[in-house]
Amino acid sequence: MSQFTLEKTQFQDALNRQWQGFGLQSAQDMTPHQWWQAVSGALSEQLAARSVAQEPKQDQRHVNYISMEFLIGRLTANNLINLGWYDTVRDVLTEQGVELADVLEQETDPALGNGGLGRLAACFLDSMATVGQPATGYGLNYQYGLFRQSFDDGKQQEAPDDWHREHYPWFSHNSRLAVDVSFGGRLVKDSAGAEQWRPAFSLRGEAWDLPVVGYRNGVTQPLRLWQATDIHPFDLTLFNDGQFLKAEQKGIDAAKLTKVLYPNDNHQQGKRLRLMQQYFQCACSVRDIWRRHHFLGRSIEALPDFEVIQLNDTHPTIAIPELLRILLDEHQLTWDAAWAITRKTFAYTNHTLMPEALECWDEKLVRSLLPRHFSLIKQINARFKKQVEKQWPGNSAVWEKLSVHQNKQVRMANLCVVSGFAVNGVAALHSDLVVKDLFPEYHQLWPNKFHNVTNGITPRRWLKQCNPALSALIDQSLKTEWVTHLDALQGLEKFADDAAFCERYQQIKFDNKVRLATYVKQHTGITLNPEAIFDVQIKRLHEYKRQHLNLLHIVSLYHQLRHNPQMDMVPRVFLFGAKAAPGYFLAKNIIHAINEVAEKINHDPIVADRLKVVFIPDYRVSVAELMIPAADVSEQISTAGTEASGTGNMKLALNGAMTVGTLDGANVEIAEQVGEENIFIFGHTVDQVKALKAGGYDPLKWRKKDRQLHAALNDLESGMFSDGDEQAFSLMLDSLLDGGDPYLVLADFTEYCQAQQRVEALYRDKAEWTRRSILNTARVGVFSSDRSIGDYQQRIWQAKR
Ligand SMILES: *Cc1c(COP(=O)(O)O)cnc(C)c1O
Repeated sequence: MSQFTLEKTQFQDALNRQWQGFGLQSAQDMTPHQWWQAVSGALSEQLAARSVAQEPKQDQRHVNYISMEFLIGRLTANNLINLGWYDTVRDVLTEQGVELADVLEQETDPALGNGGLGRLAACFLDSMATVGQPATGYGLNYQYGLFRQSFDDGKQQEAPDDWHREHYPWFSHNSRLAVDVSFGGRLVKDSAGAEQWRPAFSLRGEAWDLPVVGYRNGVTQPLRLWQATDIHPFDLTLFNDGQFLKAEQKGIDAAKLTKVLYPNDNHQQGKRLRLMQQYFQCACSVRDIWRRHHFLGRSIEALPDFEVIQLNDTHPTIAIPELLRILLDEHQLTWDAAWAITRKTFAYTNHTLMPEALECWDEKLVRSLLPRHFSLIKQINARFKKQVEKQWPGNSAVWEKLSVHQNKQVRMANLCVVSGFAVNGVAALHSDLVVKDLFPEYHQLWPNKFHNVTNGITPRRWLKQCNPALSALIDQSLKTEWVTHLDALQGLEKFADDAAFCERYQQIKFDNKVRLATYVKQHTGITLNPEAIFDVQIKRLHEYKRQHLNLLHIVSLYHQLRHNPQMDMVPRVFLFGAKAAPGYFLAKNIIHAINEVAEKINHDPIVADRLKVVFIPDYRVSVAELMIPAADVSEQISTAGTEASGTGNMKLALNGAMTVGTLDGANVEIAEQVGEENIFIFGHTVDQVKALKAGGYDPLKWRKKDRQLHAALNDLESGMFSDGDEQAFSLMLDSLLDGGDPYLVLADFTEYCQAQQRVEALYRDKAEWTRRSILNTARVGVFSSDRSIGDYQQRIWQAKR
């Protein structure tokens, strides 16, 4: 470990090399952004000089975690903390009159993901490096991350997020790892009658590595992000064939392929370029896995003994036929031998039950882009059909459900279940629904294939880094290393009745609210009262997440205030953070509605500071790190059965926010952990939702039943929030009313408001609120992603095969 310490002089020298490299005369000539560049560059250099990879233990497989998204957030602060170099670096900078905290604020978030799925991948990498699970993360190096969000008259505007990957100091580029990937073309039969793929064109994948640093254990392992470039030197034979020109005409140039991240969350679009991205990253990653396997002198057949490929949702499914293709076409294995290897290598994590998010690809698209893979998928399906025929003779209805290739579509989830050795859901309730509602017949065929691994979050970023004051208090109180053993937070329970501890806990929450209020003032001009309840809903904007249920409650409170100006209420600040996919017009309409309601309420003297509504623009990891420690209330209000897990719910509870939530996703397990008196549960359960829908749900009936609901809807319809424009929110209102309210917002409104009244009542008892808030922090240690990784190891990666 001693080689892992950073001496002040070493850092100082490395820092000097940086500004000299910029061509400057002294450190003091650097701009604030150059300071960040220089500090990060120096650290990156010092880290590279010390890195050690993890050696797999006996029977430990190397995990290849393939994901289209890694929402890693800022790296410099995180790496400083995990390396244990924070204090040294801060001190060196202080001597030069520079604040480390200010330097760290200069970093642009690498926003290479949309939301929860990408953030989960980032937390898992942190935990694998920390708990000693050898792993490589594989993804794409997008030039533009998720768009930047701003508001114009309350409407979402999108701008490209050029995060300057070319100058990101944590990258290391190794040109020897480049991979060529082929596309298109046709199949021909060779003399033996075997299929041969004659691709139309190829692109090159360059490997750009980011270091994933374990927590103070000397481990660094790569997040390898592939970036597309043209193949040089130019292949003249292809050029003379006219094939390059043909490729050009089809609009395929290398620079385009990894230019942008598709901005959809829980929604598939079926775009050709997206499928190309998927194949590109899978082909590069599978090739890289083989390279390591061969380099270590292992036999082809032994691949599954040493390597496992974990598919983060179906986005990287095409890796399955890619591995088969390599085994069959490049290593000339028989089908049975190749299939045996493939079957034991892949594991699949399901993240959603919603039909619009389950990937299906047009067969024409797959065939034209990947003719050989399409042929292999058909062969997998034909063999699988025999098995289904044995189990359910003559039952075409079952086959239509299970088939991988049906109605001219390739169904990626089915391909994963048929081809992999494990399928897992991401929370107990969700995994149950995967088996019961999504894949019941598959479960009958292979009951042991299905697992649950409840998601988790890394306590390094989501407590130690984002809430330093609370972390210090926990350090002083527990005197044990809780950062890698989050269950140890249980030791805080005994402090929930300790007046001195409670007072400090309360003060820290207050200070964090002041810190957030300062940010809000700077970025929106709105003044917040830190004595108010800070009620936070932060997550992608989606109908199923029901930000509009929150909005209806706010409109209802405002209605009550107008009709009873003396109403006694605890001041409350409703804070939102959310991006809507640019093509998701209903979601954008909800953002507009929230902003218009906010504008009206924030300027109405009747309200007199009892209500404030703030939509913080450009929600992202660094904004989450600011909002979460400041939250009193965590809104987790999705329709039961729609949110697979949620991880925002865990981050907020860990930082002491009280959850208002439905019995959905991981909320169920959070409730079990914290106890029902320490959470505000409301709304229809999964079974009640099903029954309501089966009985012909009619939102208009629910509108009639609740006067407050009716009044809130009237207000939104009246134009009073939109300068008299009665149509301003019609997308949202039509969905809630004539559109049948697919997510039962109206049916859950009454109970939601009751839960909010319980929140208010409890908040009036400051001591009791603080006690219960502490119990939340103390009891959610099980949601550490270290525990999730332990579960993957036990149930999936290291399980007896
Ligand atoms: C944790 C996180 C999410 C996921 O939030 P949910 O509430 O679980 O949907 C999304 N975006 C960012 C930036 C996050 O940090």
